[in-house]
Amino acid sequence: MSSKKRSFQAEVSKLLNIVAHSLYSEREVFLRELISNSADACDKLRYLALTDDKLVAGDTEFKVRIKADKEAKTLIISDNGIGMNEEDLDDNLGTIARSGTGAFVENLSGDEKQDVGLIGQFGVGFYSAFMVADKVEVLTKRAGEKEAWLWSSDGLGEYTVEKAKKADRGSQITLFLKEDASEYLEDLRLRTVVKAYSDHIALPITLEEDDKEETINEASALWTRSKSDIKDEQYSEFYKQVSSSYDEPWMTTHWKAEGRFEYSALLFTPSNRPFDLFHPDRKHRVKLYVKRVFITDDCEGLIPEYLRFTKGIIDCEDLPLNVSRELLQKNQMLTAIGSAVSKRIISELAKKSEKEPDEYIKFWENFGPVLKEGLYGTPNENKPALLELSRFRSTTRDGYISLKDYIGGMKEGQETIYYITGENLESIKNSPHLEGFAAKNIEVLLLSDPIDDFWIPSMFEGFEGKKFASITRGSADLDNIENSDDGDDDKSSKKSKTQKKDTNLSLLIASIKLTLGETVKDVKESTRLTDSACCLVADEGDMDMNLERILRQHQQVQDAAPRVLEINPKHPLIKGLAKKAKKEKPGQEIEDAALLLFDQARILDGEPVSDVKAFAQRLSKVMELGLV
Ligand code: ADP
Repeated sequence: MSSKKRSFQAEVSKLLNIVAHSLYSEREVFLRELISNSADACDKLRYLALTDDKLVAGDTEFKVRIKADKEAKTLIISDNGIGMNEEDLDDNLGTIARSGTGAFVENLSGDEKQDVGLIGQFGVGFYSAFMVADKVEVLTKRAGEKEAWLWSSDGLGEYTVEKAKKADRGSQITLFLKEDASEYLEDLRLRTVVKAYSDHIALPITLEEDDKEETINEASALWTRSKSDIKDEQYSEFYKQVSSSYDEPWMTTHWKAEGRFEYSALLFTPSNRPFDLFHPDRKHRVKLYVKRVFITDDCEGLIPEYLRFTKGIIDCEDLPLNVSRELLQKNQMLTAIGSAVSKRIISELAKKSEKEPDEYIKFWENFGPVLKEGLYGTPNENKPALLELSRFRSTTRDGYISLKDYIGGMKEGQETIYYITGENLESIKNSPHLEGFAAKNIEVLLLSDPIDDFWIPSMFEGFEGKKFASITRGSADLDNIENSDDGDDDKSSKKSKTQKKDTNLSLLIASIKLTLGETVKDVKESTRLTDSACCLVADEGDMDMNLERILRQHQQVQDAAPRVLEINPKHPLIKGLAKKAKKEKPGQEIEDAALLLFDQARILDGEPVSDVKAFAQRLSKVMELGLV
C-alpha cells in the first residue's frame, strides 16, 4: 500500500522547529498533552454514543493505556476513543486548527528564545511529543468506520499517511524516544508523571507491565470531590489540562449548587492574558458536562462574552444526557445556570478586589478591557456590579482608582464624573482639554481602551446618581465648581474685567468664524484652557472625537463632523489677536492666524493638518513677521 508524503502547514513546521530546539524545563508535560488528547477523544465518543450506541459496541469501558517497550525504546499511549480517519489526520495533525493559534504562530519572531516563552502560553499539544521522540506514529481507526490509518513523521516538515490494519477503534500513539529521553521507559517515572499531571482525569489511565495492567490514577472527576480533599496543586494541574494553559490560575472558584438546579462548577481565571483573547473567533473556554459526561466545549451563551477569559467546567445534574447541541442554545435551565455562574464569578472578583487590591490590579490589567465589554450593548443585569469592578487611571492620582474613589474625591459643586478618551495614556495626559480641570484640581478619568468610547457614552444612568461627561465634548462649565487652590475673593472685579475683554474677543471670534467657514461648527471662548491657545471639541450632540477616530480607522464613518474651535481668552496670542481685530478690519494676518490656530488644534488632537503645504507657508510668513 502506498504511503502519501505530505507537508505540514507552514505554521506547524515553525512550531515543530521551536519544539525540537526548545529546552523545555518540564518536557515531561508531553505525557499530559497526549493523555489529555486521549481523554478528550473518549469524551467525544461517549457523547456521540448517547444517540448511537453501535459506535461503542463491544467496548464501553473507556480508558487510556500506557505501555513502555524498553527493547524497542518506544512508549505507546493508546485509547479507545473516537479515533481519526484520513481526513481527520490531515486536519488535526497536519495543520493548526485552533482559532487564533495559526495567526499567532505566524507572527512568532523566529528568535527561538523569545518564541519558546510565548509558546508556553498556549501549549503545543500533540506536537510536544517531538520534545522526547525523534519519530512519532499514530495508528488510528475512527469509531464506526472500517478503514484504519497510520500517520508517521519525524517532525521535520513532512508526514505520511497510509492505510493500515487495526482491530479496534481509537488511537495508538507510538513515540520512538530520543536517546536522552529513556527515563520515560521507566515504570516509576511514568507513574510519577501521571500522578502529577493527570490524576484528576475522569477515566482510568493504566500502565501495562509484563502482561499486568494497573490503573495508576484516581480516575474520578476532580470537581466531584469535596473542596477540602483537593490540594492547590491538583486544582492547578486540572486548570492546565482543561484549558491547555501553562500559567497558574489567578482565581479558582469551585462550588456545588443545590437550589432550583443542581450543578457543579469548577472555574478558573488565568494569571496571563491568553494570546487570542481579542481574536474575533475567541469564545469562552468552559466545558459543559451532564452527569460527568462531556457534552460540548462550545455552548454558546453559557458564559457571556465579557467573561470569556473564564476556563473550566460546569457539570449539570438535571439535563437529559442525550440533549442535542442545538437544543442547548435555547435551554432555559442552561440560561439560568449561566446567569447564576456569571453572578458568582463577578462576586468572587469583587471579593478579591477588596481583599487583595494589588492582586486585583494584575487581573484588571489583563482582563479589564474584556470585562468592560459587559458595560456596553445588550442590557445585562450585571452592569452595576461591573461598573464597581472597573478601575481607572486619573489625572490627580497615581495607580488605579474605582468610581467610588472618584466620587469620594469630587469637589464641592461638582456633579459630574469627567473623563477623556484617547489612543494612549501619554497622549491623553498631554491633551489641552485637561488644562482647566488641572487648574481647578478637578480629577478626570483617563480612558485609553477602544471599548471605552463605546460603553461610556451609553451609560446614561451614570454611577451612583452622577452622570459621565466627556471633557472633549460640549461645554465645560467649570464655574460652579469650587476652586480649592486660590482664594478667589475678588469675583466681581474679575467678572467685569472679563466682560470688558469680551467685546474685543467677540470681534476676533467673528473674524475666525468668517475665515474658517464650514470647516468648524462654531468658534467659542473656552473655559477649559489655561495654557494652550486653542483646542477642538465635539459639539454637545455630536460624536466624541476619539470615537469618531476609531470608527474612521475601521471605515465605519467617512468624514469627520465639523468641530467647535475653542480659543483661550487668557492666552497672550489670543489677547494680541483680539486687540488687532478691534483696531483693524479683518485682513490677511487674522485670516492666517485663524487657519494656523485651527491646524494647531488638529495637531494637538493627533490629527494631520488638512493642507500641509499651505500650513508651512503660513507658518513661515508669520515667523518672518515676528523677525522684522
Ligand atoms: P488540541 O488538543 O489543543 O486541539 P492538539 O495538537 O493536541 O491540539 O491536537 C489536535 C487535534 O488532533 C485534536 O483537537 C484532536 O481532534 C486530534 N487528536 C489528537 N490526539 C487524538 C487522539 N488520541 N484521538 C483522537 N483525536 C486526536
